[in-house]
Amino acid sequence: QKAQMAIAREERILVVVRLRPLSDKEIVADEVTDWECINDSTILYRNTLREGSTFPSAYTFDRVFRGDCSTKQVYEEGTKEIALSVVSGINSSIFAYGQTSSGKTYTMTGITENTVADIFEYINRHEERAFVLKFSAIEIYNEAIRDLLSSDNTQLRLRDDPEKGTIVEKVTEEPLRDWNHLKELLAICEAQRRIGETSLNERSSRSHQIIRLTIESSAREFLGKENSTTLAASVNFIDLAGSERASQSLSTGARLKEGCHINRSLLTLSTVIRKLSKGRQGHINYRDSKLTRILQPCLGGNARTAIICTLSPARSHVEQTRNTLLFACCAK
Ligand code: ADP
Ligand code: MG
Repeated sequence: QKAQMAIAREERILVVVRLRPLSDKEIVADEVTDWECINDSTILYRNTLREGSTFPSAYTFDRVFRGDCSTKQVYEEGTKEIALSVVSGINSSIFAYGQTSSGKTYTMTGITENTVADIFEYINRHEERAFVLKFSAIEIYNEAIRDLLSSDNTQLRLRDDPEKGTIVEKVTEEPLRDWNHLKELLAICEAQRRIGETSLNERSSRSHQIIRLTIESSAREFLGKENSTTLAASVNFIDLAGSERASQSLSTGARLKEGCHINRSLLTLSTVIRKLSKGRQGHINYRDSKLTRILQPCLGGNARTAIICTLSPARSHVEQTRNTLLFACCAK
C-alpha cells in the first residue's frame, strides 16, 4: 500500500507557481498587485476590482513561491528532486509556462544552472562510475526546429528510431566540461535566439526552447568489457512560448499561421498534460506537435514532469495571470 502511494505520488505532475515581484518599471508606472501568496501552497486574488466576479479567488498547488523567493529556493524546494532523477536513469521534463515577461526565462536559466551544478557535484562524488554529460539546445518556431548551438540556419528533422523513439537528427550535442562551459553555451543560445528579431522578447514570446542534458554513465570496473551496461537519461528544460499566444486571436497571413502553430504546440501540450495528470490512460496524442513528439520519451511512462507557472503580479496582467492559473489547475 505504502509503495503504491509512493508510485502514485511520483506519477503525478508536480505543479508549482512562481509570482515575480513588480519590476522597477511597473512600480514607476504606479502598477499595483492584487495577488498574495498566503502560505506555501495557496495564492489568493484579492477581488478588489471585480465585485460579483465569478472567478475563484484562491488557488492551491504543490508549492507557491512569493515574489521575494530566490530561484535557488524554487529549485531546492520545487524541481530539484525531479531534475536530479536523471542521475538515476529517469527521464524528466521541467516546463516554464506563463505570459511573456512573467519570468519564464529568468526562472529556467537559474533552474538549469542549479541542476548542472548539482549534477557535477554528483559526478565528483561517484568516482566508481564514468560519466558523460551532454548539452543540446533547440528552438521550435512555427513548427520548425532549429539548433541553437549552430549558426547554420537549416531546419532540423525528426526521425523515429525503433529504440530511442523520436530523435532530432543532426542536433549538436556538446559534452559539458564544467560550469563555465555551461554559461558559455547558454550565452550562445541566447545570441542565436536574438537573430532576426528586434528584441529577445519578440522571438521568445513566439518560440519554444528546449535545453536537454543527457547523462550516460557506466561502472568503471566494467568499462570496455562485454558485460558493461550504460545508464542513460535526459532532463529537459522547456522555456515555452508566451502563453498569451494560446489565447490571442491573431490577424491574417504570416502572423495567423504563426499563431496556429504556436497554438498547436501549446494546445497539444495542454491536452497531453491534462491526460497525463489524470493517470496516463488511453491514447495520448504526442504526435500532434513537434514539441510533444520530441518530449514523448520524457513525458509518459516512467518519466517525471514538473511545471513551473510564472505569474506577473501586475493588475494590468490579471487576465493572463488567471489564464495561467487555470492551465496550472488542469495540470495538477
Ligand atoms: P519571460 O521569459 O516570461 O518573457 P523573463 O524571464 O524575461 O520573462 O522576465 C522578464 C523580466 O523580469 C526580466 O527582466 C527578468 O530579469 C525579470 N524577472 C523575472 N522574474 C523575476 C524574479 N522572480 N525576480 C526578479 N526579477 C525577475
Ligand atoms: Mg523569455
